[in-house]
Amino acid sequence: VRGIDILRNPKLNKGTAFTLKERQLMGIHGLVPPTVRSVEEQTIRVLTNFSKRSSDLDRFIYLMALQDRNEKLFYKVLCENVEEMMPIVYTPTVGQACQQYGVVFRRPRGLFISIKDKGHIYEILCNWPERNVKAIVVTDGERILGLGDLGAYGMGIPVGKLSLYTALGGIHPAKCLPILLDVGTNNEKLHEDPLYIGHCEPRVTGQEYDDFIDEFMQAVAKRYGYSCLVQFEDFGNHNAFRFLEKYRDVYCTFNDDIQGTAAVAAAGVFASLRITKTKLTDNKFLFQGAGEANIGIAELLTLAMIEEGATEQEARSKIWMVDSRGLITKGRPSGGISGHKKEFAKDYKHMDNLEEIVEDLKPSVLIGAAAIAGAFTEKVILSMAAHNERPVIFALSNPTSKAECSAEEAYTLTEGRCVFASGSPFPACTVNGKTFYPGQGNNAYIFPGVALGVITCGVRHIEDKIFLHAAQCLSKLVTDENLAEGRLYPPLNQIQEVSLKIATELAEFVYRTGAASAYPEPKDKEAYIRSFLYDTNYEQFVPDTWEWPETK
Ligand code: NAP
Ligand code: MN
Repeated sequence: VRGIDILRNPKLNKGTAFTLKERQLMGIHGLVPPTVRSVEEQTIRVLTNFSKRSSDLDRFIYLMALQDRNEKLFYKVLCENVEEMMPIVYTPTVGQACQQYGVVFRRPRGLFISIKDKGHIYEILCNWPERNVKAIVVTDGERILGLGDLGAYGMGIPVGKLSLYTALGGIHPAKCLPILLDVGTNNEKLHEDPLYIGHCEPRVTGQEYDDFIDEFMQAVAKRYGYSCLVQFEDFGNHNAFRFLEKYRDVYCTFNDDIQGTAAVAAAGVFASLRITKTKLTDNKFLFQGAGEANIGIAELLTLAMIEEGATEQEARSKIWMVDSRGLITKGRPSGGISGHKKEFAKDYKHMDNLEEIVEDLKPSVLIGAAAIAGAFTEKVILSMAAHNERPVIFALSNPTSKAECSAEEAYTLTEGRCVFASGSPFPACTVNGKTFYPGQGNNAYIFPGVALGVITCGVRHIEDKIFLHAAQCLSKLVTDENLAEGRLYPPLNQIQEVSLKIATELAEFVYRTGAASAYPEPKDKEAYIRSFLYDTNYEQFVPDTWEWPETK
């Protein structure tokens, strides 16, 4: 490429950072203003613009525009300002952006495949310009965060997640492909939205839908190989579990809402044990919600307790769950106990009020992920505080508007005794003169590192133990100083190092167990993984030149 097309290509464009020589050699001299700026100066310009925007949604739009214009600069700034910018490109702001995607929409990003394209999915994949895709994040938009069915507006999620693959996991953007499967939407509001970008029809379900997803998986394997990682994201509950079971032994796939959430929450629980000075099996867990998130967490904790030496039955006996019909008990009048829930159903009286359930069961750990805002009422929190010296309370529902309680409520009502984590970020808060930094059980601690390990080692199938290892590794990275400040996770600005550590730990594990397929086995796993990392520094366009020695 030469000339103006370089400036128009976000992968090549350096804006005012092109040197004089580059400008002349590449035929863009005069097409950029005369001053040559360093990347540091460009960063200042970005940060100034970022902070000048008056709303988070405007910041989102600004950052997307930067990504469309100058990819390296976008990632450099994002990498250096994770704490400030992650809540913009990802939850919670991405949720708002998805709700208003019709307005936010500028340039398309990612691949849209609609149910009407059935029979042609492979051809559409071939339209994607990158040949060497290693990671796909795919959604059908049915359950975006805790916001429900957003149809094709859900594209914001795969785009945001994959930005974090690069910013946090160091996976090259060209290897990442966001995909939205448009099978319609049951959200009536979108049918009437004149700006909607998808098909205004009800969701296709049943055999036709299943065949469509099957074709999609086959087409991905045909185009990018069976080792291409496919992360399922924000599918409806029923489909999420089915597809995970159906595809996990055939393709390289995982479901972040189930497994990624499980790992990050379990890591928080592991870290909390260092505060409560207990073993997992010493605890009684109560889950509010028995969906993708909480079933995933409960299953992973079960696996962890079994590793700790418990029998499966013992492990499951420690875990109690509440769904929309109340406490999950055997033969309860309302029924509705699907396979996954059945494993945790108890012989117990029927109860359906969370306040009464907490008071009755006296759990030591309370985890909410039902997207019911305010579910952890004052009474619930006070009751946790009354029965535990250090009550463990996780309010995981996203976005912030759906949280079970705020960090401030949890710390204040327990007089600073609770061990707290949330799904969306909460600011630090001070109780009785002590400042607490609430842990954010953000899946971003887990999926970029897992993806990095899986891709670099050529892991074919992602077993649950991979997530258990990732969780254990993450919890070990929490220092005693972190814990003393209330943090159950390492500070967000260390998350790139965290990803690298998780990937390295997984590399050790998958080579030990024969699950790796990249040969030869690297001796120094960390150095091997580091060699894959995306470099956010600009490329030099002036080639090295040399003279030939004179012939004698
Ligand atoms: P889901 O699969 O739809 O599950 C929701 C669950 O909540 C279902 O079991 C549902 O019961 C239950 N529920 C609904 N109303 C209830 C009520 N009034 N009382 C008790 N339970 C009730 O959704 P999900 O994927 O698990 O996600 C749930 C929430 O967790 C979302 O807000 C999501 O953003 C959040 N989340 C957070 C993280 C994180 O913090 N890292 C990660 C993933 C998800 P039924 O089974 O009876 O329908
Ligand atoms: Mn999700």
